[in-house]
Amino acid sequence: MQMILATHNKKKLDELRRILQPLGYAVIPGDALPDVEETGQSFAENACLKAAAGCAASGLPCAGDDSGLCVNALGGAPGVFSARYAGQHGNDGANIRKLLSALGELPAEQRAARFVCAICCCFPDGRKITAQGVCEGKIAFTKSGAGGFGYDPVFLPNAYPGKSMAELTPAEKDGVSHRGAALRALAAQLQACE
Ligand code: IMP
Repeated sequence: MQMILATHNKKKLDELRRILQPLGYAVIPGDALPDVEETGQSFAENACLKAAAGCAASGLPCAGDDSGLCVNALGGAPGVFSARYAGQHGNDGANIRKLLSALGELPAEQRAARFVCAICCCFPDGRKITAQGVCEGKIAFTKSGAGGFGYDPVFLPNAYPGKSMAELTPAEKDGVSHRGAALRALAAQLQACE
């Protein structure tokens, strides 16, 4: 079955492919889809806005995701504003600098955070499936690792003590990440409705 992914982010596309291809889904990049403004108040709302618009434009089943980082000590920020926390959309370096400076010298036990990912899949016949995944961890004091993207160099997943998300292999990241969890939940629902 073909599924289009409403994103221009190649790394997200790779992650989606690694998880959905073994389940028999051919994931097509949504590069030609129109951009959708993320006006939702929640990750799920934004994911569904992207999926619905992509499905309407392509006539194919379309998955949309929205994800971000929620930091307890910052009242859940940056949340749905994660990509543009420091002002410019997708400037990972500036976002990380702003995050580390907002947390300052707060001790490790007060640096709890989680990545959240919501995925929505809309079908041309009007069906809609949504799933969510969470990855619990802490914000580090400095960056480490060269893998992943976004906030990965400063996110220490509880599942790998002492390592940042950017130090995990892609397979290790998929196994513990918010997106991996959301995609597996989505895949289970897709299989159930086949
Ligand atoms: P989105 O593309 O609107 O979902 O924006 C998500 C933003 O949240 C990204 O630009 C990253 O800053 C952050 N983010 C989401 N998932 C991850 C991840 O797996 N690792 C690191 N940062 C992430």
